[in-house]
Amino acid sequence: MSTIEQNLQDVRAKIATAARNCARSPEEVILLAVSKTKPVTAIEEAIAAGQYAFGENYVQEGVDKIHYFANNANLEWHFIGPLQSNKSRLVAENFAWCHTVDRLKIAQRLSAQRPAAMPPLNVLIQVNISDEESKSGVALAGLPALADSLSELPNLNLRGLMAIPAVESDYQRQLAVFEQMHQAFLTLKARYPQMDTLSMGMTDDVAAAISAGSTLVRIGTAIFGSRA
Ligand SMILES: *Cc1c(COP(=O)(O)O)cnc(C)c1O
Repeated sequence: MSTIEQNLQDVRAKIATAARNCARSPEEVILLAVSKTKPVTAIEEAIAAGQYAFGENYVQEGVDKIHYFANNANLEWHFIGPLQSNKSRLVAENFAWCHTVDRLKIAQRLSAQRPAAMPPLNVLIQVNISDEESKSGVALAGLPALADSLSELPNLNLRGLMAIPAVESDYQRQLAVFEQMHQAFLTLKARYPQMDTLSMGMTDDVAAAISAGSTLVRIGTAIFGSRA
C-alpha cells in the first residue's frame, strides 16, 4: 500500500471517529484533499485510493492540474487560496468550487466570467473569524450584507461558509472559534436554505471542527506529507 493510500485511510478513520464522538454520521463530512505544491503523481495515488475532491491554493498550478486530469470527469476541484481580481477568470472557467469569496467585487467578476455552458460556480464566503488583520475574509458583521448581494448573482450558487482560524493548539479554544462559525452558518442558512457546506478543519484542528459542525474538512499534510 502506498503511503498516500495509508494516510488517506488514517484520515478517513480519524474523521469517522471525530464524527461518532459527537453523534454525527461520518458521511456528513466531506474530505477535501489539499494537493497544493504536490505533483500530479501524488494526486494519482490519492485517486487510486478513492479520493475525488481536491483543493488547490494557487490559480495557475490548480488550472494546470485540472487540465492534466481533464479526462477524469469524477474529480471535483476546489479553489481554496486567496483570490486576486486579475485571476478570477481562470477560477470561473476551471473550478467547480471557490471557498474564498470575501468581497462583492470578486463575486461579481466570478459570476460574469462563469461560462454559460458550465453549471453555476459553487461558492463559500470566507469569514475572518479570528479577526486577524493579515487574513482575508469578511468580518462577521459584514456577512449578511455580502450574502444578500452575492445570492442575487446568476452564475454563483451560495453553498455556505469557510474559515481558517488563527493557529491554536488547545482543543477547547479551537472548538470555541469553530462554534462561532457554526452559529453564523445556521443563522445565514435560515435565510438561504440551499446552504449545505461549512468548510473548516485542517490537519491540526480537524476533530474540533467536526465537533462544531463542519461538513467539509480541508486536509493536506496528513495525506500528502509536509510541504517544502
Ligand atoms: C494548505 C491549506 C489547507 C491544508 O492544511 P494542512 O494543515 O496541510 O492540512 C487547508 N486549507 C487551506 C485554505 C490551506 O491553504
